[in-house]
Amino acid sequence: MNLGNLFKIFKIKKVLKFGFIFFGVNVLIFCLAFYRNESQRFMPYEYKLVQKIFNKISLNNDLGDRPVTVIIRAGEDMHFLSKDLGLCKDKDNYCAYYVNLNPFKKYKGYRANDLNNALNQAYLRGHIGAGASPTGNIVLDRSTFKVLERKESYLASILAHEMFHILQFGPFEASLETLKDTRENEKLTKKEMEDIFLKKSQVQEAEADLGGALMLYYADYPKDTFLKSMEFFYKQIGVIHEKNQSRKHPDYITRISLIKAFMNDESFNKEILDNPSAPLKWVYNRKENWLRFYPNKKTFSTF
Ligand SMILES: [Zn+2]
Repeated sequence: MNLGNLFKIFKIKKVLKFGFIFFGVNVLIFCLAFYRNESQRFMPYEYKLVQKIFNKISLNNDLGDRPVTVIIRAGEDMHFLSKDLGLCKDKDNYCAYYVNLNPFKKYKGYRANDLNNALNQAYLRGHIGAGASPTGNIVLDRSTFKVLERKESYLASILAHEMFHILQFGPFEASLETLKDTRENEKLTKKEMEDIFLKKSQVQEAEADLGGALMLYYADYPKDTFLKSMEFFYKQIGVIHEKNQSRKHPDYITRISLIKAFMNDESFNKEILDNPSAPLKWVYNRKENWLRFYPNKKTFSTF
C-alpha cells in the first residue's frame, strides 16, 4: 500500500468519524428539544403551581369526565398596550389576539421589541385575570401569578371557580333560560334580551362562587378560603362601584353576602368521595403553551 492510498483511507475514516459525531449530536439535540417541549420538569413555575393545586383539589372532588386545558396568556393589559402601540388597529373591539399571546415566548420579526416590552409591562402592571370556556379551557393572565405570589390558596379559589364554570356549561344554561323566558315575546328589544341574559349569567357566576367555595372545602382548604380570596380580588382591583365594570358578575356586596350565607348554611358540608378525580393525568406542550389534565374516570365522552 502506498502512501497515497493510506492517506485516502485515513481521510475517509476521518470523514466517517466526524459524520457520525455530527449525526449523533443532531439526534441528541432533537431528542432534547422534544423532551424539553413536553417535559413537566421544565415547565414555567406558573404551570407547576396550577398542577400542584389541581392535584390537591382532585383528591376529593369530581372534576368531570372531560380533559381540561389550562392556558397562561399575556393578559388583559395587552388590549390597551397593543392599541397604544398601534399594533391592534381595531379601535372599537377587543384586541383578543394580543391578550391571548404566549407570554413565555420572545417574539422576533416585525416590531418585536415593542411587542416584547408590552408583554413585560402586561406582566408587571396587570391584575388578576381568569376565565373559562365551555370548550374545556381555563385561561389565566400571567400577571395573576405576580399579584398572588405567596397566596396559593387564593389562586386555588380562582381555579376552583373556573373549574366549576367548565362543569356547569354556564353560557348555555343562561341562554336556555333566556330563550325560555323570551321566545313567546316578540316585542323585546335587543337590549332587553341582553339584560335578561345578563341576569341569568349573574346567577351562573354566583353558582360558580358557591361551587368553587365548596370544592376548596372538600379539598381540605380552610373553610373561609374562598371568602377571603374574593375580598382580596376586589381589593386589588381598587375601584369597584362603577356599574359597567363587570356586569357579568353580581356586585361585590352581593357576591360576598351570598358566599357568607352559603358558608353558614348546613349544606356547606364536607364529604369524602368514593370516586374522586385523582390521580390526574397531565400533558404539557411548551411550544403551544398549554397544560392539560385528564380526570381519572372510567369512561370519557367520545362524541
Ligand atoms: Zn366566573
